Amino acid sequence: MPQPLSLAGDRATRLATIRAAFPQLDGPDCSFVGGRTAAMARLAKIDPVAYDKSRNFLDGAVTRLSPYLRHGCITLGEARMHALAGWSPQRAWKFIFELAWRDFWRRVWKSLGPAIRKDVEKPKVTLGHAPLPDDIRRGETGLPCMDATVRSLVDEGYVHNHARMWFAAYCVHFRKLSWRACADWFVGHLIDGDLASNHLSWQWVASTFGSKPYIFNKENVAKYSANRWCATCTADCPFDASYPALSKRLFGTETP
Ligand SMILES: Cc1cc2nc3c(=O)[nH]c(=O)nc-3n(C[C@H](O)[C@H](O)[C@H](O)COP(=O)(O)OP(=O)(O)OC[C@H]3O[C@@H](n4cnc5c(N)ncnc54)[C@H](O)[C@@H]3O)c2cc1C
Repeated sequence: MPQPLSLAGDRATRLATIRAAFPQLDGPDCSFVGGRTAAMARLAKIDPVAYDKSRNFLDGAVTRLSPYLRHGCITLGEARMHALAGWSPQRAWKFIFELAWRDFWRRVWKSLGPAIRKDVEKPKVTLGHAPLPDDIRRGETGLPCMDATVRSLVDEGYVHNHARMWFAAYCVHFRKLSWRACADWFVGHLIDGDLASNHLSWQWVASTFGSKPYIFNKENVAKYSANRWCATCTADCPFDASYPALSKRLFGTETP
């Protein structure tokens, strides 16, 4: 049972206590510096036009603003206004569109409350309910693309959106794990961990908050990761198939 931190009154002592308890905050793997100043510096660097063209690629021009938005270092409104101050609505739209997703998930949470931790809708395919196995927790599935996601999650507390989608689909549809068990574990490791964006995204992948399940194939991973794993992967790849073939294997029908 983890012991609660006992925090002193003054800021310097509090920070020292927190740093000692969470050494990974100062480790080489954490690229996030906390606070308003760091948030504003990151906001100043965003490029909505490059974002629009490349956000689905793992090395694309994503903003890494989510931890700052999550912890209130900047607001969604500030991020939106910053984009509109520098770019026309036509050029800034994709970035603002994505901010709107965050806003939408939070409104759904406000409306449904703790119910977002259960199926919001009936699943559109048969889902599994298996608990989270150790090979997933430890990043030892034998699939380099999935194991790298777990390392990024656990070591850095940040995962690119596309990799989050692949990983969630792998857990829920390929491994038939309980989306809820996965979502509870996943959110606990994210620096931007947010019940609304996280649990509702897992539900979107699962099809309990969306019209169909989200799945992906090897071609998609190879393309958007610039072949970072597939070129040298020797695993028996469960993703190496067309979408109809995968769908048939996973759900018994070519179009779920
Ligand atoms: C399974 C899964 C779990 C997720 N868990 C979280 C979570 O716990 N906390 C969290 O903040 N986001 C979560 N997301 C949404 C999204 O992956 C992250 O917000 C995004 O990857 C954060 O990185 P970024 O700031 O570089 O994003 P960018 O791509 O640069 O996007 C800019 C901002 O737009 C918002 N945004 C972008 N994509 C999404 C999205 N799909 N849904 C909601 N907002 C979005 C975020 O606020 C983000 O900071 C999850 C997505 C999936 C598929």
